[in-house]
Amino acid sequence: MHSYPDARSVIAAHAPDEPVILNRPHAAKRAARFFIEKFPGKVLYAVKANPSPDLIGILWNAGIEHYDVASIAEVRLVRENLPDAQLCFMHPIKTRRAIAEAYHQHGCKTFSLDTLEELEKIVEACRDPQTGEPAADLRLCVRLRVSSEFSELSLAAKFGCDLLEAPALLQTARQHCDWLGVCFHVGSQAMSPFAFVQAMDRARAAIAEASVVIDMIDVGGGFPSIYPGMEPPPLEDYFQIIHQHFEALPIAYNAELWCEPGRALCAEYSSLIVQVEKRRGDELYINDGAYGALYDAAHVNWKFPVRALEDDLRDPLMDFAFYGPTCDDADYMAGPFPLPSDIQAGDYIEVGMLGAYGAAMKTGFNGFGNAEQFIVEDEPMASLFDGSRSRPEADNVVNLR
Ligand SMILES: *Cc1c(COP(=O)(O)O)cnc(C)c1O
Repeated sequence: MHSYPDARSVIAAHAPDEPVILNRPHAAKRAARFFIEKFPGKVLYAVKANPSPDLIGILWNAGIEHYDVASIAEVRLVRENLPDAQLCFMHPIKTRRAIAEAYHQHGCKTFSLDTLEELEKIVEACRDPQTGEPAADLRLCVRLRVSSEFSELSLAAKFGCDLLEAPALLQTARQHCDWLGVCFHVGSQAMSPFAFVQAMDRARAAIAEASVVIDMIDVGGGFPSIYPGMEPPPLEDYFQIIHQHFEALPIAYNAELWCEPGRALCAEYSSLIVQVEKRRGDELYINDGAYGALYDAAHVNWKFPVRALEDDLRDPLMDFAFYGPTCDDADYMAGPFPLPSDIQAGDYIEVGMLGAYGAAMKTGFNGFGNAEQFIVEDEPMASLFDGSRSRPEADNVVNLR
């Protein structure tokens, strides 16, 4: 992939009339090193946040060896790209065929579940096809439902067993494996470390009630990135509180602590160049949107940082809303996106922080899915990992530029 200093040099070289994704390998590598060095346990990458093979390779080279996969396609993708990676199938609802392929063909031993039915599926699908013997090397994780009250995007409704069901499920699962974990997800973009405190309190209650030996606690994803209006406390505060509460859990003395960040590892990896195709007052019609990398900007009104890429725009900023390229009224992003008030059709805009749940969301709807990709060397539009410190004890302090 060709590399450029920044977005401006990409438009100077290509004058692109389709959206362009800009990738910053150094930013993904920096985030991975930060987690590996500072999280007091094992770090899995949640592949759904951005399944790009280039990104997965960067994370692997930075030292991320475990991958949280949620579909058989993600299992195959990671296995094809990383023959030695550890795969953990953390979607609590899987088909028997997906489980069997993951286990027998791709060496995936770790599976999550939140019901007895799923436990039964996993046990059956992983039997030795010749002898019918049950698998002796399964690693099972019971997913607990926890609150999403501190998070910007809830993951509380869909998955996870509740505190009444958990003890019996933990006891039954324990009979089918030599290694049993508890996992949960506090919701994406958790804006307070206390999200993890209340989740770990629930885990403690479930474990105490079940009185089984627990070999692993997986605190899931939810680690925040930084966006306009969403500036989280230092990640080190999250790590410290998680470590403290982990140490106090009634679990095996050699129990492992895991986390599964998606967003925090890759949000800074990508930005997007879009072109203004028409202006109508304070609305800009741009060439990417709700069915493209700006899915979250449209559907959950997520705020992403923007900057105009033309040197001749000098007027003060005003707030704009965006329309995407498809013929659908829903292809609308309210923003507001502050841009120079003299911006007009033909001008380019860079939208930042789209490495997580951005670049991964592009569809081909209405014929608008294309995007070339280039590497750029400049800093992401915001970073939790660029080394600027506002508190001496915290590394990941933020510098919005
Ligand atoms: C989506 C997901 C993640 C990643 O969540 P982030 O908020 O992006 O960190 C981790 N684990 C599971 C099971 C998930 O579904």
